[in-house]
Amino acid sequence: MGVKEWKQFTWKQLLDFESCTRCGRCQDVCPAYASAQVLSPRNMLVKLDAHLWEKANGRALHGGVVSTDELWACTTCRACVQVCPAFIDHVTAFVDMRRHLVDQGNMDKMLQDALANLGRYGNSFGQSDRMRAKWTMGLQPAVKDARREAVDYLWFVGDYASYNSTLTDVTRKTADVFQKAGLNFGILYDSERNAGNDVRRVGEEGLFEMLVEKNSQVLSKVKFQTIVTTDPHSYNTLKNEYPDNGNGRPAVLHYAELLDKMISSGQVKFSKKLGYKVTYHDPCYLGRYNGIYDAPRRVIEATGCELAEMPRHRERAFCCGAGGGRIWMEEKEVKERPSESRIREAVSVDGVQVLIVACPKDYTMYKDAVKTTGHEQKLVVKDLIELVYEAL
Ligand code: SF4
Ligand code: SF4
Repeated sequence: MGVKEWKQFTWKQLLDFESCTRCGRCQDVCPAYASAQVLSPRNMLVKLDAHLWEKANGRALHGGVVSTDELWACTTCRACVQVCPAFIDHVTAFVDMRRHLVDQGNMDKMLQDALANLGRYGNSFGQSDRMRAKWTMGLQPAVKDARREAVDYLWFVGDYASYNSTLTDVTRKTADVFQKAGLNFGILYDSERNAGNDVRRVGEEGLFEMLVEKNSQVLSKVKFQTIVTTDPHSYNTLKNEYPDNGNGRPAVLHYAELLDKMISSGQVKFSKKLGYKVTYHDPCYLGRYNGIYDAPRRVIEATGCELAEMPRHRERAFCCGAGGGRIWMEEKEVKERPSESRIREAVSVDGVQVLIVACPKDYTMYKDAVKTTGHEQKLVVKDLIELVYEAL
């Protein structure tokens, strides 16, 4: 169950600790370091390397070399991995050590509750299955039940887009755009479970496997061609980590990719040009994890908006702070939250009125951060689908 002592690291991880040049590039881009300075990926590597040479002589890895606060501070954004000149993968080592903490029950109460809810209800909100598709109520035509009829696109909605009340309107607009585009799509209603991406990043591998099994069982009985999701976290795990469910590995698209395809094929046509000056936040699990940078930008430009980039964009985008299960953990006293730093960056771009997001968690994080930084008069947060909806 994860890494308890140094001997349990893989040879590549041990080599990584040895290879660090101590340049500090990873520390400079780390949102956990920037917000609270609890975690420095550089310092972690330096400490782990020293520990390797002392061969755990008198010091325990957990508690002696690395602290639980450091391990839980990581958002798994991969900014450190992206920037490292020595090809070091910090994140897998941190997650492997988290697995040991989870095994020992060494985590905060909020995270414990979220994991218990995920185990019991299949979602982190602790709500019943029956409430998962409540957002579809009153939609005309009704959203198809993919368990009952074959569809081309299976929309994997995800927990946040299903249950979070801030997002209901966005989720309904997504359905509306899909319907107006004539897309043959359906959802799994109360049979969908959290896809497990962040459960895995937290280090709860057993629960991850249980969620994969439950979703795979349902998916194996449904007739569809392609999975589509608005959630980059679900996208990442469904695309890269789910096993063959008996029907072969399904194609998985993020809605930005699907919208891009439908716009270029003429399936989605716009009746107006919006003319906003906007900037776009690259979600970590869409950008750095899956290399999707151009599709959302093409969609934004197709709606007649002018896109101005933030200083940190594409591979260098700054994490909102919610990834890797951080959204389920208690917030400690911080200098500035990563989401607030990002809002400050967005308003620093000359003339930008709108921050476009393509992730349900980003939507909630940035809506909050706009308020806490007092920028409500200056900047509006919109989901990519809201631009498309408005331009149709
Ligand atoms: S960027 Fe890589 S080489 Fe530089 S300090 Fe960080 S881990 Fe070490
Ligand atoms: S993955 Fe992100 S939060 Fe974690 S250490 Fe690397 S830069 Fe910091």
